[in-house]
Amino acid sequence: MNISQDKVVEIDYVLKVDGEVVDRSEENDPLTYLHGHNNIIPGLEKALEGHAAGDHLNVTVSPEEGYGERDDENVQMLPKADFDDDVEIGASYFAQSDDGSVNPFTVMSVEGDDVKVDFNPPLAGKTLNFDVTVKTVRDATEEELAHGHAHGEDMHDDDEDFDDE
Ligand code: ZN
Repeated sequence: MNISQDKVVEIDYVLKVDGEVVDRSEENDPLTYLHGHNNIIPGLEKALEGHAAGDHLNVTVSPEEGYGERDDENVQMLPKADFDDDVEIGASYFAQSDDGSVNPFTVMSVEGDDVKVDFNPPLAGKTLNFDVTVKTVRDATEEELAHGHAHGEDMHDDDEDFDDE
């Protein structure tokens, strides 16, 4: 069976940026995703199309097809008073906006009473290099298609549709 729209795919992967490993699937714990539903970054999803279990791929993904380009407007100053604790340089926090969405950011520096923060995804602007092995490919269940994501052995990682199982 080849990877195409609505297949559930398990992959082992190693993600390298600038030659360094920044993320990887754990041994015997592959990433499971529903193909064709934007559940993984576009460049990787496109490269996996048509492949089958056992295939090994080396995929280079440009920022445009990865986490996007860096946007300097995503670097902002926040009042230090808004932070509860000691502000830690390099630490990640979450800001809740008025519409309820939650936006992660990283602290760049503290400048007087202000904190300089970066809302860009940490891998924005980076070329991503994936080393991928396709483990399994199967048809999605109706429930998975209705939810728009794959269900692994331990069901949901996300709790938001918890009660419709
Ligand atoms: Zn679900």
